[in-house]
Amino acid sequence: MRAVRQLWRLGSRAVPIAGVGLTLLQLWRGGFRRVGALGWWEAAALALLVAGVALAAVRRLRRRAPDAAPRVADELELGVGLVAVACTVVAVAGAALFPLVYLLVAALVSFLPMAAGLAVLGAALLFDGLLTLMHGGGGPRAFAVHAGFLVLFAALYHAVLQTRMMMLRRAEAEAVKNRIREVEERARTFRLVSAGSQDRLPSGGEDQGKWLLASVMEIEGSVGAALEVAEAALRTHTCAVFLLTSDDRALKLHDCRSQSERLQRDALPAGEGILGAVLKRRTLLRMSSAQGLKGVTYYEGGAPDVASVLAVPLLERREGESGAAGVLRGLLVADRLQPEPFTPQDEKVLTTVAEQVLRAIELERVMTYIRKSRDETDRFFQALQELNRAASFDKVFPAVLESAQSLADLDFCALTLVATEGGKRVHRIVRVGGRIASLKMFEGRTFADNSGHVANVVRYRAPLPGRDLRSVDKQVIFDDEFPVRGLSALKIFPLVTQDEILGTLVAGSRRRSALDEDVLRMLEVIAMQAAQAIDRARLYERMEWMATTDGLTGLLNHRTFQQRTEEVLAQARRYSRKMSLILTDVDHFKSVNDTYGHATGDQVLKGVARILREQARDTDLVARYGGEEFCIVMPETDARGARVIAERIRVAVEAETFQTEMGPLKITLSLGVATFAEPASEKQALIDLADQCLYHAKRHGRNQTVTVSQMQLGSRRMQAVEG
Ligand code: GH3
Ligand code: MG
Ligand code: MG
Repeated sequence: MRAVRQLWRLGSRAVPIAGVGLTLLQLWRGGFRRVGALGWWEAAALALLVAGVALAAVRRLRRRAPDAAPRVADELELGVGLVAVACTVVAVAGAALFPLVYLLVAALVSFLPMAAGLAVLGAALLFDGLLTLMHGGGGPRAFAVHAGFLVLFAALYHAVLQTRMMMLRRAEAEAVKNRIREVEERARTFRLVSAGSQDRLPSGGEDQGKWLLASVMEIEGSVGAALEVAEAALRTHTCAVFLLTSDDRALKLHDCRSQSERLQRDALPAGEGILGAVLKRRTLLRMSSAQGLKGVTYYEGGAPDVASVLAVPLLERREGESGAAGVLRGLLVADRLQPEPFTPQDEKVLTTVAEQVLRAIELERVMTYIRKSRDETDRFFQALQELNRAASFDKVFPAVLESAQSLADLDFCALTLVATEGGKRVHRIVRVGGRIASLKMFEGRTFADNSGHVANVVRYRAPLPGRDLRSVDKQVIFDDEFPVRGLSALKIFPLVTQDEILGTLVAGSRRRSALDEDVLRMLEVIAMQAAQAIDRARLYERMEWMATTDGLTGLLNHRTFQQRTEEVLAQARRYSRKMSLILTDVDHFKSVNDTYGHATGDQVLKGVARILREQARDTDLVARYGGEEFCIVMPETDARGARVIAERIRVAVEAETFQTEMGPLKITLSLGVATFAEPASEKQALIDLADQCLYHAKRHGRNQTVTVSQMQLGSRRMQAVEG
């Protein structure tokens, strides 16, 4: 079997060589003159040649298989075979077809490796010599011309191809270099490279490049999340972070959320316009003008009509520094096109967001100290990303513990938050994780501010316990009521924001070596990021509360009332359930304002809101409909049930004596009740119906509740009287 295969291999190699050789011989002897009169030898040469080329082509294609580089011998075999075929065609059909050989040789030379290309060119010259000199194809002059053209064509093709390849390679190299330069520039903006920490970066150019890239992306992630909060909370046209370049002379856009495409992406001179003023004075700046502001320099081709600007400097403060002290990193700017000035409340929001941005940069500096294997680094960044994405408490808490557990072999971990109860500081264990299942029941429990480790970490804002820990079992982590036993390693990290301590992250393991230097560093970063995420979740919650709640009474505002009522109605429709709506209006409220002043009126409204909240059920929606009108939406409630509640409210308000700065005060309410599945079934129709009932109550003596059926009965009676 092996012998057969070897014979076949030898034969298949011999065929192309024999074909080319025989063809050469026939041309030498002046053969291939006419198609119709091919001799035996010529026919045999042609058959061998065609078979040889076919074999060579098959071999060449097979070698194309991935990662098999074509061999020069194969290339040569095919190239020379093709040239021989072309020359035979020229011999038979006449010299007019010779350009075919030029083209073939040119193409072969440009695609083949240099050596094979030159060999093919040599073979073509040899064939050409035979054709012109021995075959009667024009003699030495024709040979000289052909040879000249062959060489010229081959050289030109080769040159063109090489140039294109070179250009492509150069473009690619340039693109890579640009990306690295961009990353380095960003890193420098963050003072990472120039902060003298270079010796601590992982060595090796490529590794360092990757590390920088990952770090820069990490910062961008959390800065972006902070900007999203600002944009949503402040309803801005643009909200952007500009950072000072390493020489402090220019500002560069770092990240933004903007409805404009024209934000300036090139460096801006640091001393110009509104941004320049903020940097110079190192304080917050709030400006507004209905005619459009001047000095807005951060848009390309002139600013759009920006009516309000709020900008905060990014000042990195060391311990004990305050006010305008600290290192200036850049600034955070928010603007609006509509002439709605920013409020002091907005200032607070933007200042908080600025702190988040600063912390992201600070975090980055700590991260450059951590040296880990690729795998661990990947996990670390993944954990951080997870934390950055979490926006609400129910996502942040699990994410913090999962991050910690993914980086260290922890048997116990917990998250505590500082809270106040009865004016005293307490600590709440909000979440417990790890392999020791029995400790899970500590979750949700609260303990007093004592001399345990958690309380001390909060007090001193530093990780505890210190280095040498003899017996972990004797340590009090929370307090005596919640003992944790069986650990051999323990560390508790503070969760601190710029100016506040939020709580702690507790990490423990049964393995003494589980918390080595590197793991501790990573957990420290996780704790920093956790504090930031919790802070952001608080901000989100506050924003949401502000957006849905009426500022004076704490009830739902009008917009939210409309939205939620629609939802309740949709449910009622889908499940064919009843629902009712009460509209209330304070009787003669104008005279309260007129007699006692608007502020007293406000106090009364707060009191009424409190009574409504108390009298309504948990499932009811209580909203300030507007002015001194309130609305209660009651799912699963028919007209009779709604009337009972309305009366309860009316009686409670009538009985209440409102204590105000102007003395005790009494008022009454009128109420209208409409129920879904009565004539009205659309939201507005339902509200209108309740309003008609309310109007009816007002017209018939106030301080009373009127339902739809009472109203209809009343108007029928009226008709009867009139009739
Ligand atoms: P009626 O019994 O017919 O309802 O008489 P009324 O005086 O209460 O009349 P109406 O409901 O039309 O008057 C609403 C008044 O409530 C007008 C306005 O001065 C006062 N008001 C509306 N919103 C507020 C508010 O937020 N605070 C205060 N203090 N007063 C408000
Ligand atoms: Mg009114
Ligand atoms: Mg009124």
